Amino acid sequence: MSARPFTYERANSIGEAIEIARAAGGNSRFLAGGQSLLPLVNLGLVSPDTLIDLGRIASLRSIVSGGGEMSLGAMTTYRTMAESAHVQADLPLLAAALNFVGNPRVRNMGTVGGSLVHNDPAAELPLVMTLLDARYELSDGTTTRWVHSSDFSAGPFETSIDDYELMKSIRVPLRSRWSWGFREFSYRPGDFAVAAAGALVKVRNGEIAAIRAGITGTGSGPLRCTSYEEAALGRTATGLPAIEALAIEDAPYVIDGVESSEYRGHVASVMLTRAVEDAMRPGQAA
Ligand SMILES: Cc1cc2nc3c(=O)[nH]c(=O)nc-3n(C[C@H](O)[C@H](O)[C@H](O)COP(=O)(O)OP(=O)(O)OC[C@H]3O[C@@H](n4cnc5c(N)ncnc54)[C@H](O)[C@@H]3O)c2cc1C
Repeated sequence: MSARPFTYERANSIGEAIEIARAAGGNSRFLAGGQSLLPLVNLGLVSPDTLIDLGRIASLRSIVSGGGEMSLGAMTTYRTMAESAHVQADLPLLAAALNFVGNPRVRNMGTVGGSLVHNDPAAELPLVMTLLDARYELSDGTTTRWVHSSDFSAGPFETSIDDYELMKSIRVPLRSRWSWGFREFSYRPGDFAVAAAGALVKVRNGEIAAIRAGITGTGSGPLRCTSYEEAALGRTATGLPAIEALAIEDAPYVIDGVESSEYRGHVASVMLTRAVEDAMRPGQAA
């Protein structure tokens, strides 16, 4: 397959990008890092009439802390986030997960907004943002709305973003005294995860006082493991709840047709256990 002919436009502002999208009449795509969209276009799996490059819009590339939260512009690349002293210091769970995304070329080009809107069910950032309780700023040019990370995924490669809406920023609340863990299993470094898991834990007197834990790779998107979270409350590092293979009932979706959902569920349960164990280690505080 090869790409169907399309019009390529470069927008200089958010307003202009949305105007071009509206003028194109529904079959356009915003182009961010192109790491997912361009392969899909080249394979003929997506055939937009118009690609609207967001690369010139400087206001979409920023990392700003203030008011108890961090704001990430949607066009901020994986690499910029990974190298940011703010991200490393205040969002270590995100910094750790970024190491698992693709390869250096992908991390140079791929963006946080592109990852969240693409919503690959094996992607790291939709899970991390869900655990971090992030919210997303979406604009259609006239109105801006905020969507909570837990309400954004609508299934594999689907989200609640509307036609002509552009993701402007991601706001992440900053938490003090939470510790974290992130584990991923893939066959080769840089491959998509067979399964990955993340955990944020608040420990008081050696016991879990609060926990946010979840997995990706097994199901239709980022999955909070709420029954595990409930079982883990009050437990110590040596008394964590045993996990049966996770999410099998939630994971009939097998990404590449190679692994069974049972296998992915098993790997996810191992990753989750290790992520929580890591979070319980002394010195792992966020
Ligand atoms: C070899 C390879 C390995 C990879 N490995 C991984 C991996 O391990 N983990 C992982 O998570 N990903 C992986 N990826 C995918 C990569 O992370 C993509 O960069 C990401 O999924 C999309 O981000 P992007 O900026 O490239 O967006 P694009 O590909 O440009 O766009 C993706 C989608 O998002 C939409 N979009 C982008 N930005 C916005 C916005 N601001 N507002 C509204 N819509 C927007 C586009 O229209 C498109 O539909 C890999 C890719 C490759 C090529």
